[in-house]
Amino acid sequence: MGKEKIVVIGGGFAGLNLIKKLDKSKFDILLIDSNNYHSFPPLFYQVASSGLDPASICFPIRREMRKGPVRGAHYQMGTVSKIDISRQTVTTQYETVSYDRLVIAAGTTNNFFSDKDLHKRVFTLKSTTEAIRCRNEILDRLERAAITHDAAKRRRLLSFVVIGGGPTGVEIAGAIGEMKRYILSREYPEIQQDEVTITLIEGSDRLLRTMSADASREAASYLGHLMVDVKLNLTMRSYEDNIATLSDGCEIYTEMLIWTAGVTGVPVKMEGTDLQRGPGQRYVTDRYNRITGLDNVYAIGDIAITTDDPAYPHGHPQLAQVAIQQARNLAHNLNAGSFDRQFIYKDKGAMATIGRNRAVADLKGIHLYGRVAWFAWMFVHLISLLGMRNKLTVLINWTWAYFSYSSSLRLLIRPDRYPLRSRWGER
Ligand SMILES: Cc1cc2nc3c(=O)[nH]c(=O)nc-3n(C[C@H](O)[C@H](O)[C@H](O)COP(=O)(O)OP(=O)(O)OC[C@H]3O[C@@H](n4cnc5c(N)ncnc54)[C@H](O)[C@@H]3O)c2cc1C
Repeated sequence: MGKEKIVVIGGGFAGLNLIKKLDKSKFDILLIDSNNYHSFPPLFYQVASSGLDPASICFPIRREMRKGPVRGAHYQMGTVSKIDISRQTVTTQYETVSYDRLVIAAGTTNNFFSDKDLHKRVFTLKSTTEAIRCRNEILDRLERAAITHDAAKRRRLLSFVVIGGGPTGVEIAGAIGEMKRYILSREYPEIQQDEVTITLIEGSDRLLRTMSADASREAASYLGHLMVDVKLNLTMRSYEDNIATLSDGCEIYTEMLIWTAGVTGVPVKMEGTDLQRGPGQRYVTDRYNRITGLDNVYAIGDIAITTDDPAYPHGHPQLAQVAIQQARNLAHNLNAGSFDRQFIYKDKGAMATIGRNRAVADLKGIHLYGRVAWFAWMFVHLISLLGMRNKLTVLINWTWAYFSYSSSLRLLIRPDRYPLRSRWGER
């Protein structure tokens, strides 16, 4: 008898951790990912703000495939656009492959709600390439402002608006605030500090609303210190001609609006079934990560939702730890050949950082803030990064930046100008 073939869509936290734990003697495993690298989303904002270079937070999947726990699994690049349930196949832009069991771990993408064209006008932080685009835009604006004599134009160039006061919004607003407070006078003496405006818009009555009230309060105070204007209880009604109109009618001019206000499951066409996705375009599963209504198809990580866990009636939070723990649980059940272990989420807490020496952390009832939380945040992120080279590079970069208040990474490199030959003619 040949081995059963498991196809895994997505090599993020969920997909890679599943493959590590699957029994290679029982299964023939194929990982398909759009990118040939695994990336570390919690540090996207550091790439966007020139704190880290992209290679430090990405890891080649093929190198990971050589390592002990993953050896024996195979990788192919491709974006899965279609799953055919009746034929048991998945299709990418390059090929169609068959499976015996399918694991969907493709994560989420930006949600622009009803404004389907918004993605053309805003900046986002859901991938390494989106983070690089943000970085280039920020640097380009600073450089252009530095050589512009027209004060009004300078202000227009330097108005930054962030929509969404969750961890990503808070962290990127804080990082731009840090540039304003500490970097400008040293590296861009032509620009006055008060010419840069950073506005953070949040729809609810507090920042970081998935964390404790203390964490929200501290985060708001840290952002104040970094000269970020925080507006609560407001949503963005529209964004046209570089004007963001808020729910109270107020208008803000910005040519750089960073959208962090929502995510939705990655779209993949499904044929041979009338299955409907659940809230947030996530696949509804049971507590064993089996997609309800399908055989031999599973979903883990951000793209999965189960409401069967009484402790999380609205689904588990979309966090790396949930993805990792679900992956391990599913691997256990698949290896055992029987679905006898339910997924039970062990909450390890939440953290966010807002510039140098400032972070907030809720860890099992313990609330940390300031420098202690910041060191805890750095430690947790360092140990979670894939690859010793990446850990060392990040540590060196952070240490250097800590003592020098600067980073050597403010390089305006625009890869888009020189697209791959296969992409010529796409734009
Ligand atoms: C900016 C940001 C900051 C975050 N900060 C934190 C944090 O501090 N702490 C925390 O716990 N969580 C954080 N998260 C959430 C965390 O990153 C996610 O919960 C986690 O990445 C989910 O893992 P996943 O494997 O489900 O999805 P992902 O890690 O997103 O991986 C999905 C993979 O699927 C691939 N893929 C997508 N579509 C396709 C397709 N059609 N075909 C083939 N491959 C595809 C992608 O290339 C990617 O490699 C953050 C997320 C973001 C965006």
